[in-house]
Amino acid sequence: MTSTTASGIGAAFDAQGVAGYVAGRTWRLAIGGELVDAASGRTYPTFDPSTRTLLAHVPDGDAADVERAYRAAAAAQEQWAETAPRQRARLLRDLAALVDEHALELAALDAVDLGSPLRSMLLDVERATDSLRLFADWSLQLTGEVVPASAEHLHYTRREPFGVVGRILPFNHPLMFAAGKAAAPLLAGNALIIKPAHQTPLSALRFGELAQQVLPAGLVNVVSGQGPETGAALVTHPRIRRLAFIGSERTGRLVQAAAAAAAVKQVSLELGGKNAMLVFPDADLAAAARSAVTGMNLEASTGQSCGSTSRLLLHASIADQVLPAVVDAFQALRVGPALDEATEVGPLVSEQQQEKVRGLVDDAVAAGAVLECGGTTASAAAPTEAGFYYPPTVLSAVDPAMRIAREEAFGPVLTVFTFQTEAEAVALANDLDYGLTASVWTSDINRAHRLAHDLEAGFVWINGSSQHFPGVPYGGVKASGIGREECLDELLSFTQVKSVNVMGALARR
Ligand code: NAD
Repeated sequence: MTSTTASGIGAAFDAQGVAGYVAGRTWRLAIGGELVDAASGRTYPTFDPSTRTLLAHVPDGDAADVERAYRAAAAAQEQWAETAPRQRARLLRDLAALVDEHALELAALDAVDLGSPLRSMLLDVERATDSLRLFADWSLQLTGEVVPASAEHLHYTRREPFGVVGRILPFNHPLMFAAGKAAAPLLAGNALIIKPAHQTPLSALRFGELAQQVLPAGLVNVVSGQGPETGAALVTHPRIRRLAFIGSERTGRLVQAAAAAAAVKQVSLELGGKNAMLVFPDADLAAAARSAVTGMNLEASTGQSCGSTSRLLLHASIADQVLPAVVDAFQALRVGPALDEATEVGPLVSEQQQEKVRGLVDDAVAAGAVLECGGTTASAAAPTEAGFYYPPTVLSAVDPAMRIAREEAFGPVLTVFTFQTEAEAVALANDLDYGLTASVWTSDINRAHRLAHDLEAGFVWINGSSQHFPGVPYGGVKASGIGREECLDELLSFTQVKSVNVMGALARR
C-alpha cells in the first residue's frame, strides 16, 4: 500500500481489500514515540458511511491519555525548541516524503472512514504534504526585530514557541488537517497533541505512527476519543497554552469558554460558514453556473465543507439562465460509494449528518421553498438504503428567514435567492452571523472591488470559488472564527514574542 498514484487502484483496492486491511490492523494511540492502547482499555467503533459497515475499533482516549501525551510532548519539546528552525524544516520535509509514500493508503483510509471519493482524498494527501513543505520553506521567517527604542541600549525581539499545542480537528478532511495542520506548530518549535474527529480517526492515527518514524519521540501525539471529553481534556489542560480548534461554531464557543475557565490560553478558531455567491448580469453566466457547482465542494466532501458557497444569490434578470444550468449539473453528478471509481459524490459522514440535512431540506420545502432537484423525494441514483447518502439538492424560492437559509447544513444543499439591486444583495449576504468566504461574479472591476470590501467574509473570490491558495490567509470574520491559517500568520501564531533589552550595549565609552 505504498503507491502514490490513483491509477493502480485495482483488486487490492476494492472495498473488501481496504476494509480487510483496516480490520486487520491494530489501531493504537501514538504517544511518546510508542503505539499504545487507551489507558482505560476502552475502544469505540468507526463505520464506513458508504456501506454502514463496521470498519474497526479504535482507542477511546480520555483525560488520562491526554495527560500521558502532554508529559511526552513537554519532554520532547525542550530539545525541539533548541533545534535550529532549518533543521526542524528538514525533518518536516522528511515527514512530507513519508506521507507521500503512503498516499494511497492514507487516502483509502479517509475514503472508507469519511466516505469521500478516493480521488478527492488523494488530493487531500497532496495538500497536506504541500502544507508541510510550504511551512518548511518559511523556517527563516521565524525572525525577531531590532527596535531602535533608545540610543544606548540594544532592544530586540525573538519568537518563542508556546510549548505543547493542542489541535482539535473536524471530520471533513481527516488527513489533510492531521498532517497539514501539524506543520506550523512544529516548525515554530512546539510539540503537538492532535485530537481527530471521532467519526474519522483512522488516517490521523496512522499519521501518528508515521510521524514517530521521522520525528523525535513524543513530538507528535495522536489521541482519538469517542465523546467530547477527549477534546475537552486538551482544552482544560492547565499547561497547554495554545489551542487551535477547527470545527463548528457551537463547539468553538464551548472551547473558548472552557479554555478561559481553565487557564489563560491563546485559542484560534476556524469555524463554520454559510457563504454567499453573488452573480450579476454582466458576469460570464456559464462560468458562474459551473462555479456555483464547484463552489459546493460536492466531490471533495459531499458539500461538508466550511468554505462552500451554499447560498447562491442571482440577479433576478439572469436567474432563468443560471439556475437550470446549475440544476442540470447537480443532477448529472454520480452519487455512490467512495471506492467506486465512477463515484463523483460520496455519502455524508454519518446518520446524524444525513438526518440533519434531511430535516433542514424538509422544513424548507414545508415552508414553501421549491425543490429544483435532489431532496428526499428525488429519483437520484443514490443507493439510499446502503449508506448515509443524500442527493445533491437545489432549493429555490428560499426565504431568508428559513432555517435552511441561516443554518450551516454541511451537506450537498444549495439554496438559491434572487435580488434586484447590489445593495440588496450585499445586505442579504451579510445578514448572517457567519463570515467565512464569499464569491462575486461580475465583469465590472469597480463593482468587484467594492463588493470585495463590503462583504463581511474573511476570504473572497472574484469570478471564482472553492479554491484555496497556500500562502493566502484563510479564516473567518464574525462567528466564523478567530485567526488565519494557510499563511505566514499561521506560523507566527504558534510563537510568542519576547523582548530583550541589553542595557548599555550601544553606549559610547
Ligand atoms: P464539531 O464542532 O462537532 O467537532 C470538532 C471537533 O471538536 C471534534 O474533534 C470533536 O470531537 C471535538 N469536540 C466536540 N466537543 C468538544 C468539546 N466540548 N471540547 C473540545 N472538543 C470537542 O465539528 P465537526 O462536525 O467535526 O466539523 C464540522 C464543522 O467544522 C463545520 O461547522 C465546519 O464549517 C467546520 N470547519 C471549519 C473549517 C475552517 O477552516 N473554518 C474547516 C473545516 C471544518
